[in-house]
Amino acid sequence: MTPPTAAELDAADPLAHLRDEFELPDGIYLVGNSLGALPTAARAYVNEEFDRWSSLGVEGHFTGRLAWKDYHELLTDQFAALTGSHADEVVAMNSLTVNLHLMMVSFYRPTAGRHKILIEGHAFPSDHFAVESQIRQRGLDPTDSLILLEPRGGEEVLHPDDILQAITDNADELALVLLPGVQYYTGQVLPMAKIAQAGHSVGAIVGFDLAHAVGNLDLRLHDWDVDFAAWCTYKYLNSGPGGVGGAFVHRRHVADPDLPKFLGWWGTNKTTRFEMETEFDAIPTVESWQLSNAPVLSMAALRASLDVFEKAGGMGPLRRKTELQIEFFDRRLAESLGDRVENITPKALVERGCQFALRVTNDDGRRVFEELERARVLCDWRYPDVIRVAAVPLYNSFDDIDRFVDILDGIVR
Ligand SMILES: *Cc1c(COP(=O)(O)O)cnc(C)c1O
Repeated sequence: MTPPTAAELDAADPLAHLRDEFELPDGIYLVGNSLGALPTAARAYVNEEFDRWSSLGVEGHFTGRLAWKDYHELLTDQFAALTGSHADEVVAMNSLTVNLHLMMVSFYRPTAGRHKILIEGHAFPSDHFAVESQIRQRGLDPTDSLILLEPRGGEEVLHPDDILQAITDNADELALVLLPGVQYYTGQVLPMAKIAQAGHSVGAIVGFDLAHAVGNLDLRLHDWDVDFAAWCTYKYLNSGPGGVGGAFVHRRHVADPDLPKFLGWWGTNKTTRFEMETEFDAIPTVESWQLSNAPVLSMAALRASLDVFEKAGGMGPLRRKTELQIEFFDRRLAESLGDRVENITPKALVERGCQFALRVTNDDGRRVFEELERARVLCDWRYPDVIRVAAVPLYNSFDDIDRFVDILDGIVR
């Protein structure tokens, strides 16, 4: 039986129509892992807030269903659905690195014996910087308190067993495990539930950076027993540049009065907040980590995107499409390019999301990337030698993948 063509797969794709909900730049947009596409409805959502600002002024804070003082609540149920969480466990606030810091303020509580943080050696620099500075902030030295997890010699991706082993090896000294759900460079999906379980079994806290996981994988943060997580929304959640971040704190921690926390007025009791009392009365949900009033314009754009996720039926159908797109992409790469291109993302489906990390074997990768740009393929280059491409199931077609492989084939000699 001949395998299906891109046209056949697109015709059979129940989510194909969602592409019409987005405004895509000219060319082939395969870089939603870096900045998601603009949902057309974001214009109306943001304009509605401009109209309310224009007509209501400051009263917009207190008026109607969209009252700005409660605006972040409009995102909560959709965040919960996307991350497999309960409504009291998720909040839209700040930005990713800020949220990582706020989470570490609460969940990195080193003692003389248990003071180490386990991260990956190739962590996104912002995460690495945040962790190092948290360690120094407690008067400790990263040389002693930071463990960097590296792939085995000559390999690109981590063996899941090596992650669990590193946790066991540091059992007595490990305070915190902070790893990505999806590695930003290789696209590898880490086994979050197993890592949480291994961390807890040695008495450590387990947090995840979900920058490349949210909107990409079908997450179950509550059931996986993750302690905390943080993410950005401008990648797979299409909120636009600098869009608001997100955070998850497991239900068992949300109302814990003993957790140290940086406080702001948006974390205190909503009914008395405007009485301007200086006694902090923590909201008994993750909202108590909020500092400031919400960035409403950015959240308005995000709402438009989250509505498209709802139209898709959530992450289940999107993940099914991703698996078909991975299969198609793998097949087309193998047919056309053979061993001229290597995908360093792991082979196993459970270790993959919608991002591919391609390395050109017999050519100058940087030249190939520049040729792709000239051909209006939007993808990205990550130093030293990887071209990242993402087939985002909300708006990328099988035809996008097909044309990309043809163009790449024409460039790589
Ligand atoms: C995109 C990304 C960031 C960016 O952090 P911001 O605070 O949103 O600028 C941080 N960490 C990881 C893993 C990322 O992928």
